[in-house]
Amino acid sequence: TRSILLNSRPQGMPTQENFKFTEEDLPELQEGEVLLKALYVSVDPYMRGRMSDAKSYAAPYKVHEPIMGGIVAEVVESRNNQYKKGTIVEGRLPWQTYSISQGKGLNVIDPDLAPLGYYLGVLGMPGLTAYFGLLRIGDPKEGETVVVSGAAGAVGTVVGQIAKIKGCRVVGIAGSDDKMKYLQGKLGFDEAINYKTTDNIAAALEAACPDGVDIYFDNVGGEISDAVYPLLNNFARIAVCGQISLYNTTTQPTGPRVEPILLRTKSLMKGFIVGDYASDFRQGVKELAAWVKDGKLQYEQTITDGFDQIPDAFLGLFKGENTGKQLVHVADP
Ligand code: NDP
Repeated sequence: TRSILLNSRPQGMPTQENFKFTEEDLPELQEGEVLLKALYVSVDPYMRGRMSDAKSYAAPYKVHEPIMGGIVAEVVESRNNQYKKGTIVEGRLPWQTYSISQGKGLNVIDPDLAPLGYYLGVLGMPGLTAYFGLLRIGDPKEGETVVVSGAAGAVGTVVGQIAKIKGCRVVGIAGSDDKMKYLQGKLGFDEAINYKTTDNIAAALEAACPDGVDIYFDNVGGEISDAVYPLLNNFARIAVCGQISLYNTTTQPTGPRVEPILLRTKSLMKGFIVGDYASDFRQGVKELAAWVKDGKLQYEQTITDGFDQIPDAFLGLFKGENTGKQLVHVADP
């Protein structure tokens, strides 16, 4: 099998040097084990946190061990009665072309229901993040204004569309003109702001949100968020989902104090991790799948080809190279 190990912990922006490719033979399958062939590998911003050893909600990756993440794989050999040869599964697996599993934590997926990559996106972790963050924390009501940052990514695209389903005015913030077109065209966002080319994001937001902001779904943090807070309405809700603009900073980030705004507007600001809602995942996937089936929820994937491209695809997340969910296609079933 070929593997990608964490070679060293990044300081600031990660680079290729932080990853190492190795090749080795796998041992023979033991009773209860399955041999898995990776088909689609998910690269996700949270992995940047696990590459560091700073305190976080997920344990750090170990140096010189394979990076782990969401993978869709095929059972190509089985000595486990639960998983027949040919079964397609999703699970937290090592970045390896082939891996051995005892079957724990694997979810069997139906390749006929949706494209395989969807189980790592809209019907997987990012889709559920959007679903529970928006519905449970944002609690959107018809006519309210929702701002979402990181709007053209795996989570953001789903947040904005669910907000539209709920009858909200939706304003997305993302980093390219193509993404603007995509958000306002195919996805039906009311307004989109390109933070890379707009000189005054605060003024652009004010123009895009004439009735203020009721819900802010924050995927990026930093200066983009600083521009949103002054527009909060009374009883606004802020779902703090991600802070990608700060993941590679090497100094302590500072910004304006937001507490006076939260106090004046009596707003709720809540951080969350998708796993907090694990007991309701089944219900969430069911509703997401129904929206996808009905054509109410569009879904974009940026698929890079080849196991060797996994580190580059991951690094591309920090340069905005993806629209929708970034995946790497490694093999076909
Ligand atoms: P995306 O698909 O949105 O990919 C990342 C995107 O972030 C890029 O395409 C880029 O788009 C944008 N970006 C990168 N660097 C910056 C920057 N410095 N400032 C502003 N935008 C930037 O990733 P996901 O949808 O998977 O994740 C989105 C966020 O949600 C992340 O912060 C992630 O950590 C978080 N998350 C949190 C979870 C939770 O449980 N709380 C679970 C899953 C994700 P652009 O072109 O717009 O710059």
